[in-house]
Amino acid sequence: MRWHAVRGFIYAPTNWSLMSDDGAFTYNGGKVSPGERQNIRYGISETYLGDPIRIPVTIINGQRPGPTAFLSAAAHGDELNGIEVVREVAHEWDLTDLAGTLVCLPVLNVPGFLAQQRYLPIYDRDLNRSFPGREGSTSAKRMAYRIYTNFIAPCDFGLDFHTSTRGRTNMLHVRADMTDIEVHRLALAFGTNVILDTDGSDGTLRGEATKAGIPTITIEMGEAHRFQRQLIDEALAGVESVFAEYELLEQHTVRWPGWRTIITGDRQKTWIRADVGGIVDMHHDRGALVHEGDVICTITNPFKNDNITVTAPFTGLMVGILENPVVYPGNPLCHLVELGGRTKRVVELEQSPATADAT
Ligand SMILES: [Zn+2]
Repeated sequence: MRWHAVRGFIYAPTNWSLMSDDGAFTYNGGKVSPGERQNIRYGISETYLGDPIRIPVTIINGQRPGPTAFLSAAAHGDELNGIEVVREVAHEWDLTDLAGTLVCLPVLNVPGFLAQQRYLPIYDRDLNRSFPGREGSTSAKRMAYRIYTNFIAPCDFGLDFHTSTRGRTNMLHVRADMTDIEVHRLALAFGTNVILDTDGSDGTLRGEATKAGIPTITIEMGEAHRFQRQLIDEALAGVESVFAEYELLEQHTVRWPGWRTIITGDRQKTWIRADVGGIVDMHHDRGALVHEGDVICTITNPFKNDNITVTAPFTGLMVGILENPVVYPGNPLCHLVELGGRTKRVVELEQSPATADAT
């Protein structure tokens, strides 16, 4: 195992010690030996009719030793983009040279997925606030516990894919606790332009796994209820880059996204909210750079008079925007994050070369 240096940090060679002596991946009820792959439907709960609720899991144990990584999606049942990312890695990638083990969990929240809704339909619980879970507790925590103990706890790091909440959309970005050196390494390796530096809330898969020493990042991409091919391809490139960094697949290289900004707590970032109810005419797409005073959107009434314009309070990147164009007062319109001077100029150049040349 070689030493890694990323942006001045030196990472010690990791001791991939959680695997059993013979290199097999084990979970309650099964074992996947080196060179094997298994598709499992693993019971995590039961329906009102007493039928099993089972999550799909694919475990691929490479011929060669290496880290164990989980890729998970649809902890929120209607967030679909990540499902396709995880399925393509598990079932379409050539993994014959894999050094390590992949635990692929394309649909964590099966009841939510079946109902095409964010939360577990049982008392509207958020599965992604229920980790690491507990036996003998609520239904959500029991499900989280089954998932966590069998498929998350044995891993060395993880990628958890999400989208924006229904009715909004996000540019592809990573959320990670950049104060954790191993999370920092993972977040940079994914290679997105934007990293939001936040510690995961209590009960989130990212927050709880990271706390337990399994560095985990969240990838936010697009909107709910959709497969968005361009974002899926971008995310797959991020997974390739992570696999290169951790030497799971050696033929890939770690990618540099062209520019990168890490949004820390001291940087301005805000959800701009509507102060009036109405129908929204959004003037920009997700990922657009807007300058202070630029019109972000117009809020109109049914008669198209007395239009209200909403302007950018500072120059920043529109990381998330409203997609369903209707608001009550207080509803979010746009997630705007400030950019540092140098990054701002690079993004200006990328988005409107003519304007940038003139300044
Ligand atoms: Zn989510």
